Amino acid sequence: MDSVQHLQSILQTKTISYLDRSRIDFNEYEKFIELVQSYYPNLIKNSTFKRVEGYSLLFKIKGLSDKDPVGFMGHYDVVPVNEEGWIHPPFSAHISDGYIYARGTLDMKGHVVALLEAIESLLKDGVSFERDLYIMLGHNEETGSALPDSGARKIMEMLEAEGKHFYCVVDEGGAFIKGDAMGVKGIVGLVGVAEKGYCDIELTATQDGGHASMPPHTSALYEVCKAAMLMESHKFKADYNDATNAMFDALLPYMAQPLKFLFSYRNLFKPILIQALTKSPETAATVRTTSVMTMASGSKAPNVLAQEAKININCRIVPGDTVDKLVKRIQDRVGSNIKVKAINGNDPTNVSPSHHDAFKAIVESVKHVYPECVTVAPYLMVAATDSRLYHPISDGIYRVQPFMSMFEDRSTVHADNERISLDSFEKGIIFFKNCISTICNQ
Ligand SMILES: [Zn+2]
Repeated sequence: MDSVQHLQSILQTKTISYLDRSRIDFNEYEKFIELVQSYYPNLIKNSTFKRVEGYSLLFKIKGLSDKDPVGFMGHYDVVPVNEEGWIHPPFSAHISDGYIYARGTLDMKGHVVALLEAIESLLKDGVSFERDLYIMLGHNEETGSALPDSGARKIMEMLEAEGKHFYCVVDEGGAFIKGDAMGVKGIVGLVGVAEKGYCDIELTATQDGGHASMPPHTSALYEVCKAAMLMESHKFKADYNDATNAMFDALLPYMAQPLKFLFSYRNLFKPILIQALTKSPETAATVRTTSVMTMASGSKAPNVLAQEAKININCRIVPGDTVDKLVKRIQDRVGSNIKVKAINGNDPTNVSPSHHDAFKAIVESVKHVYPECVTVAPYLMVAATDSRLYHPISDGIYRVQPFMSMFEDRSTVHADNERISLDSFEKGIIFFKNCISTICNQ
């Protein structure tokens, strides 16, 4: 199959993102761009093509009407590898037992190539669209969208300056899970309708320094640890939010008793249900703002008292909560002797509607290629994607996972032996063909 060969060559380009931009080999990015241009001639012929911030790519296929455009986005950079743990070299794109092994198969060149193959095939068949179709491919998602040179951010700012408002934007994300935890028998597909916010909170305690042989009653390090312990031992209040409510509504018809009954009256049974949801870290993360200590620092020498002791608390914020509210809550909790400062804060995204026709088309397209899914429901994504940047220019942002093999191989993402099944890849192409031709003609 041509599409598999295309995927293999594209996976062989070492488009590795580094925060230290001087370490990036942009020749590999050029190779990626050349491959796209040679493999997808109908896309090139039927679109206008721009390079943004050097290596991010923006294609626009003109539609027949002046309705709001549709955007499909992704990124083609990948995270670095540790070669030793791989069964096959990570950039060989070796095929074995029905799988392609390579960095980026799942996150997310597999997704990008399936998308491009689908569009190429539609255009080759002479299909035209009602709506303008934009394809936005970022080159530095893996190092975060907060950086000023984020390609996705630059593309969004350009489109915003042109006054564009998008009917919907579709990006990576989503999942396939076992429905058991929610009382649903079988596999459930999930489409991300919102993302949690992110914030690092720095707790600082200060004190006069001095020699550790004559210590004061308590040290700065003790004070800041005490504050951080208070954060870990008293979790934030858990509650339903708009994204989890949308998921419960979608799953309700498929739930077995007694969960079906309990979730039908979920406000009445809130104490029991919230207690159950907060038992596992996975479900707990969807109903509360989480916080966890990640870094600590004290003095620079073993026999010197810390004049300044710091602990970083990494927080992920649920819809309905905000960075400002979080800082205030933490300050109230730890007391005024501890300085509380938010760094890298961004609020959770809006929750995109699940009654949107584009969302329904995504759900139907997933069900079409994976009839083994009992249902497909909206959910809150705990991880961040570049699509969070697009909320100012669209009310319908959806994060999808078109590959069932992710169900088994989720743990290989950003890890050793990342792989995609050929079957999933082929179905991913059909997914995008369905999805694009439906949404672009809505
Ligand atoms: Zn990704």
